[in-house]
Amino acid sequence: MASLTPALSRREREQQPVLFGHPGQIPDGACLGGVEPQLRRMQYFPIFLSLTGRRVLVIGEGEAAERKAGALRRAGGLVATAPRFGAGDAGLLDDCALVIGADAPDDELQALSAAAQARGIPVNIVDKPSLCSYITPSVIDRAPLSIAVSSGGAAPVLARLLRARIEAMVPPAFGRLAALADRYKDEFRRRLPEVALRRRVLEQALGGRVADLMLAGDDAAADREMQRVLQGEPDRAGIVYLVGAGPGAADLLTLRAQRLMGEADVIVHDRLVTQDVLDMARRDADRISVGKSKSNHSLPQDEINALLVRLGQEGRKVVRLKGGDPFVFGRGGEEAAALAAAGVAFEVVPGVTAALACAAGAGIPLTHRGDGAAGDGAVRTLTLATGHLVDGALDLDFGILARGGTLAVYMGLDSLPALRDGLLAAGLDPGTPAALVERGGRADQRELMGTLDELVAGGRAWSTGGPTLALVGAAVGRQVRRHLPQPGQDLSGPV
Ligand code: SAH
Repeated sequence: MASLTPALSRREREQQPVLFGHPGQIPDGACLGGVEPQLRRMQYFPIFLSLTGRRVLVIGEGEAAERKAGALRRAGGLVATAPRFGAGDAGLLDDCALVIGADAPDDELQALSAAAQARGIPVNIVDKPSLCSYITPSVIDRAPLSIAVSSGGAAPVLARLLRARIEAMVPPAFGRLAALADRYKDEFRRRLPEVALRRRVLEQALGGRVADLMLAGDDAAADREMQRVLQGEPDRAGIVYLVGAGPGAADLLTLRAQRLMGEADVIVHDRLVTQDVLDMARRDADRISVGKSKSNHSLPQDEINALLVRLGQEGRKVVRLKGGDPFVFGRGGEEAAALAAAGVAFEVVPGVTAALACAAGAGIPLTHRGDGAAGDGAVRTLTLATGHLVDGALDLDFGILARGGTLAVYMGLDSLPALRDGLLAAGLDPGTPAALVERGGRADQRELMGTLDELVAGGRAWSTGGPTLALVGAAVGRQVRRHLPQPGQDLSGPV
């Protein structure tokens, strides 16, 4: 039986250990608070520090020190400055919440860093990571909204490029939008005490009309719209989105799938959905794994249907994520029917099905126009078939399948011998090209090319256990190997 408790996402797991101090202070292989070292991938833990009314110290004379002092003042800090940090200056650190050093002699900056760290005061020495107990990110200031980007010192240029992109994506109006939300925060809490409902109402407002008006520069109209939302009757009906998650690579999700994953209260997914895809979902959404695999149905389909109906009736916004496309061997039809029968609103969002992802990834065209000449026969049909065995046999119409066209067989590794026997008995040329594609569409995709006989002989040993699709037909022989430009290669062609 699948666990119905929300699982932590990979990122959440990574963020468990709280690192304070530079990474060198933590011995390699140390286990922090019971968290395995291999999960410690985030080198710095981002926090937003309140400095309002707190004393902060900036040592140094020059532009960098001035810039830092200015930023700290804007954040409400009471900034004390001194050009140097000498032997008798330890008292400057009294009651400090934060210390920054820049543009001063090295030995003084070292002493400053040591003195601050000895007192447990976070310290940053500009451009000297080994003397820092924290680093400052690149900040996009849309007060009260702030977005901080850091590469942990690994690639500051990349962090700045990213920041420029985010700057463009988040125009200044977002700051005013955040301020508007802040003004109405308490009233919304009073009127809609139920968290999930309040979140949904605010999401609709801040992701929809209120935001549109604010972005258009009509702040007064945005304010009126916010009041209207506040006074209006909230829509309590739940909805279930049956969403195709594609073959497993996060960037093969559709934009719609990605948007809905960012809005859902609950994500219900099965085993084909990869961690990369789940990482795109909203962090605080409940996650329910109904982990289904070929021979190990963790949660029977009728229980999954009942679960979706119940969540929808509770008024939740549910994303039911399915590998590939929900309506291609995904039992999405049964889930849709159950929801419709129970009167729960639902919508189907298509996804890139395995046959398309495998073919694209392997460079195998699924159809071919052909010119009628010998050796250039057209391939005009594509059949998606299941290799699922019913009572140990393949229940397919081999006569039709053997007549040409491309055949894509899902769940077909176990039934490959039965497929070969059936197709050859129905007259398929034994030399017909075929392929097995494992983890199609993902970075670690693999292919095995050959005839059906060869795939039957070698497929089991070749498989590493990932989801695998079989492709059969003349078009499979038209595989075009990926061609990536080599460094220095002249791609301009003949002049
Ligand atoms: N709804 C899914 C199919 C679910 S049936 C879709 O549209 O793709 C499960 C089968 O799909 C697996 O046994 C395998 O044959 C195939 N499959 C799913 N993802 C795959 C992938 N990334 N690479 C190869 N085959 C895959």
